[in-house]
Amino acid sequence: MTGPAPGKGGQGAWLVRGAALAGAGAGVAQADGPADILVRGGTIAAIGSGLSQAGARVLDADGLVALPGLVDLHTHLREPGREDAETVETGTRAAALGGYTAVHAMANTDPVADTAGVVEQVWRLGRACGRCDVQPVGAVSVGLGGVRLAELGTMADSAARVRVFSDDGRCVADPLLMRRALEYVKAFDGVIAQHAQEPRLTEGAQLNEGEMSGRLGLAGWPAVAEEAIVARDCLLAAHVGSALHVCHVSTAGSAEIIRWAKSKGWPVTAEVTPHHLLLTDELAAGYDPVFKVNPPLRTAADVAELRRALADGTIDCVATDHAPHPVEAKETEWPEAAFGMIGLETALRAVQQAMVDSGLLDWDGVADRMSARPARIGRLAGHGGPLAAGRPASLTLYDPAAPPEAVTPGASKSRNTPFAGMELPGRVVATFLRGVPTVLDGKLG
Ligand SMILES: [Zn+2]
Repeated sequence: MTGPAPGKGGQGAWLVRGAALAGAGAGVAQADGPADILVRGGTIAAIGSGLSQAGARVLDADGLVALPGLVDLHTHLREPGREDAETVETGTRAAALGGYTAVHAMANTDPVADTAGVVEQVWRLGRACGRCDVQPVGAVSVGLGGVRLAELGTMADSAARVRVFSDDGRCVADPLLMRRALEYVKAFDGVIAQHAQEPRLTEGAQLNEGEMSGRLGLAGWPAVAEEAIVARDCLLAAHVGSALHVCHVSTAGSAEIIRWAKSKGWPVTAEVTPHHLLLTDELAAGYDPVFKVNPPLRTAADVAELRRALADGTIDCVATDHAPHPVEAKETEWPEAAFGMIGLETALRAVQQAMVDSGLLDWDGVADRMSARPARIGRLAGHGGPLAAGRPASLTLYDPAAPPEAVTPGASKSRNTPFAGMELPGRVVATFLRGVPTVLDGKLG
């Protein structure tokens, strides 16, 4: 036998022993009990019981869940331009520690990723880091200006093979521009990911419009500002027959609109963040800007509906909206503070608490919502599982029974996690990217 192909699985074979499989191929269920996974040459060589392989390193996975490597549709890596907040290097370290093997890097960098040159730069930086695949998202409009379509076709044809386009951070508010963008990407099976925020209804908005914003005297951010755009864009996606993805759904009403659009068979998908599944606007009571985020934290009723919508598949997936900011941008008065939270390193633990420990999703469901579906929406053929022989060996080993531990600073350059000091269950034990461990025993390899 010759060794693995150069650059693929260069660290030799691994035998993962006795993991509970989640997101396995047809006919293999969690209920079938633990299985061994033989990783060789960057691919899953075999799955079964009592496997052996001479010379393979053995990883005892007793009590661990094996998931296909997680895929994030919504990461801000901040490079180029804001390397003081995050770089591709630090962001992909954080991603690997969180169990991710692929992330989509949002386009609101400086310069904006609105040309083939910039998306290829980000793509190359990701390749050079090698810990996690980085798939650039292209901007919809030039400079995120919301006026002229960016060069969607050249970004799609570039080495980065961009398929997801978004002005995230800003809404594509002009309905005609949104229509044109949907029409344009249809030719190459692209998707427009919308940050749904009606700008006129959210001028100066700081916090979910409701009892809490009134009590704190902060300008309210009404649910309708999100829902109006979600409804409009579902109608546009249906009219054009092109794929719409709704970023960070935060209200019960948005989930209801998406459920309706899907019932019509319209090409609409959606994501929810871990923080919107766990946290509410009550946390703003102390005016701590670590809880300031766009879209804002909503009410407990919204959280319950978002969980329900993720469980029943109305909301397709969890996406982090990992948004690093330097300390000075967050440690200031609430109205001046930047919007955003980091989330790559805590996403799976937060989802365990919100969805698994509450009985709403099993681990197969988590594999679907955090790997299979985001990979499909992001058009990433080499990710998303299933865990099956012949597939790329990109997988995550997770210990759901690890005692809850307070969240502490990690590999991200930024510190703006809303979960700081908060106890979350579980622990990412290992992450493999095409057979190479990027994380072992909870530490970067
Ligand atoms: Zn956004």
